[in-house]
Amino acid sequence: MDGVNIHSDNRGPLNFIILAATRQDVSSCANCQNCDDLHSPEMDLSFGDVMRAASHDDPIALTNRTIWVSDGVLESMAQCQAGLDFPAVIHTLRREAETRGITKKR
Ligand code: SF4
Repeated sequence: MDGVNIHSDNRGPLNFIILAATRQDVSSCANCQNCDDLHSPEMDLSFGDVMRAASHDDPIALTNRTIWVSDGVLESMAQCQAGLDFPAVIHTLRREAETRGITKKR
């Protein structure tokens, strides 16, 4: 993929990008799995998986389908055990994916 920079060489770690944009600390995800029920058939990762991937600067936080297809689920606004604002984090990851030239998975 020409022009695609999945890794953070020029952008900084994802957890810092999210913290700067939203004040949400994705490293606070306790892997409690309470958000596993927030799911739609198109999602390939749970919200917890996305939070923990972002926390570890794992590129899958940007290349998964969940960040693109979860709007309906996000509207249900279920509570995160760690108080993370799912919509704010997911929208930041979308913007970061677009910045790095990563397009929505089909
Ligand atoms: S509810 Fe929050 S703390 Fe629990 S797994 Fe999901 S993102 Fe992590």
